Amino acid sequence: MQIAFFCICLWIGWRFIQFYFSCLSLGLATVSRPPGVEAFLPISAISALMSAWYWLQTGVIHSMHPAGLLIFGAVLAISFLFKRSFCSWICPFGFLSEKLADLGRRITGRNFHLPRWADWPLRGIKYLLLAFFVWVVFFGMNLADLRAFLNSPFNQTADVRLLLFFLHPSTTTLVVLAILIGLSIFVRHFWCRYLCPYGALTALVGLVSPTRIRRNIPSCIECGKCARVCPAGLPVDRLLTVHSDECSLCLECVQACPVANTLAAQTIYPRRRVRPVVIALAITGIFLLTIVFGKLSGHWQSAVKLRQMSRQIQYLQLSGLGNEHNPPSKNGNPPAAGF
Ligand code: SF4
Ligand code: SF4
Repeated sequence: MQIAFFCICLWIGWRFIQFYFSCLSLGLATVSRPPGVEAFLPISAISALMSAWYWLQTGVIHSMHPAGLLIFGAVLAISFLFKRSFCSWICPFGFLSEKLADLGRRITGRNFHLPRWADWPLRGIKYLLLAFFVWVVFFGMNLADLRAFLNSPFNQTADVRLLLFFLHPSTTTLVVLAILIGLSIFVRHFWCRYLCPYGALTALVGLVSPTRIRRNIPSCIECGKCARVCPAGLPVDRLLTVHSDECSLCLECVQACPVANTLAAQTIYPRRRVRPVVIALAITGIFLLTIVFGKLSGHWQSAVKLRQMSRQIQYLQLSGLGNEHNPPSKNGNPPAAGF
C-alpha cells in the first residue's frame, strides 16, 4: 500500500513538473495539471482547513483547489475508521521516514528512542502547531478574509510556489532538511512523531476511532515481540487494548505475534476482527470514491484558468521566487503589462 501510494505521489509530482515546464517554456499548459498535487499544498493542512471553514460557513466547496479539501476529508474519514493509519499506510513522508529509519538500523544496528522526559514534551509540538493553525483559521479569519485568501493569486499558485521552493531551495531550507533527515535516520519517525501537524490531526481523530489493537490475554505468552517491533514504542505486551494516539494501526505488532489469534485489530462494538485486507480495501475505496465524487460533482479541477496559471508561472519565474534578493511584489499579482 505504501509503495503504491508513494509511486502515485511520484507520478503526480512528475506530471506537475511537466505541467510547470510546459507553462514556462510555451506560455501554455500542454500537459494537464494533476489535481492530486493539492494534497501537497504548502502546509496543506492549513489550506484545507481554510477551505473546510469556508465550506462550513457557506455550504459551498470553494472552487480553488477543491481536490485538496476532498482529499483532506478522505484523510479524516480514514483516521476516524482506522486511527492514524494514514501515516503508516498512505503518507509518502511516513514511507520515506520508514526507509530512513531502516537505513539507521543498518548503520547502527538499532533505532534510538528519546528518553521519556524528552519524548513527552516533544510529542506536544505537533499538537501546538496544529492548535496554532486551527486558531489562525477558525478564530482569526472571517468569511471575507477566507474569500480574500482563497481567491488570491498566492493561493492560485500555491502548488507552483511549493515546487519552486524545492527547485530553488535556500540555504536555510537545505540545512533544515538535512537536520530532519539526520534525525529521522537515528530516531524512528522523528518528523511524524514530533512535528507533523497533519499527524496531530489524524492522531486526534483516531482517538475516537472504533478500531483498536486488542490483545487476548489468556492466549498471550508474554514474549514481548509485539512491543519490540512497535514503531511507536508502545507497551503492547502489557495492554489489553491500545488506545494511544500514536498507534498508526501499522499492524507490525500483529505480524510479529507468534501465537495465532492473540493480537488483532478489532472494532470496539460489536467486537469484530478487522483483517489487513479489509483496511487496505477500505482505504483504497475511500480514495477512489473521493476522486469519483470530485470528478462527477465538478469539485476536482481547480477553477484557475490554465492561461491565467501560465501567466502566473512565468511571472513567478521572472520575479525570481526562491531568490530572497529578488522577491515578487507584495500582493503576489503579476504586473499588468508584459504578458
Ligand atoms: S505496532 Fe501495533 S500498537 Fe504499535 S503502532 Fe503499529 S499497530 Fe499500533
Ligand atoms: S507478541 Fe503476541 S504473544 Fe507475544 S507478548 Fe505480544 S501479544 Fe503476547
